[in-house]
Amino acid sequence: EVTIRDLSKTFNINGRALNVLKGVNLHIRGGECLAIVGASGSGKTTLLRVLAGLEEADEGRVLIDGEPVHGVGTERAVIFQEPRLLPWRTVIENVAFPLEVRGLSRDEARQRARHHVQLVGLADFVEAYPSQLSGGMAQRVGIARALAIQPEILLLDEPLGALDAMTKLTMQEELSRIWREEKVTMIIVTHDLEEAIYLADRVLVLPKDKGGRIREIEVDLPRPRNRSEGGFVKLRE
Ligand code: ATP
Repeated sequence: EVTIRDLSKTFNINGRALNVLKGVNLHIRGGECLAIVGASGSGKTTLLRVLAGLEEADEGRVLIDGEPVHGVGTERAVIFQEPRLLPWRTVIENVAFPLEVRGLSRDEARQRARHHVQLVGLADFVEAYPSQLSGGMAQRVGIARALAIQPEILLLDEPLGALDAMTKLTMQEELSRIWREEKVTMIIVTHDLEEAIYLADRVLVLPKDKGGRIREIEVDLPRPRNRSEGGFVKLRE
């Protein structure tokens, strides 16, 4: 579980202070999928980067299972909009790379990487190079690479933002399946409200007005797993 307490973050832009996050308090249950939406510039990426340990907050803290965290850690993995694969490495070598960095032997890393490449449906592309993949496939590799470190928490920043509409739909279903099978806590930043509702238990709306309160949209359960069933959102102040 993730607890965020009184988190604030201000950036200095040309001598002007920009208060991006102001006293954010949030609790995310273990195994939950939380979506974060909000206008451009509302601080979604900043919040995710603070959670990932890539950005330091000015005030407040992040606790994972009750313990304060500082910096990056293996219990958290981040997936960005662009997977930034290493072009001279094959699919399996890309997924194995962070495992090798963490000290696994080449064989162990490849074995674990192979499992995750299969999990994202790329068994036939294990030895392919990034230049031979479509955008959706490349992002699948990015997802496999993040999952391979076996994180408890998966932080996703617009993971499907660069994909075409059809690939996006397939990948949404894929993410939903991975979330259920891997029982990982997911926090996903998206511009797509429909995607948020499809994937998440709760949808958090970051206010555009920094003095505004964070609103939570509670998705009616059971989740609209089957798109044709639809679903509705309830606004809670
Ligand atoms: P978008 O939906 O457009 O991606 P966002 O909600 O993710 O936006 P952030 O990327 O978190 O918003 O940025 C929020 C504000 O913080 C923006 O006004 C941006 O200019 C500012 N900001 C973000 N990172 C930095 C930085 N490293 N230095 C200075 N300002 C920053």
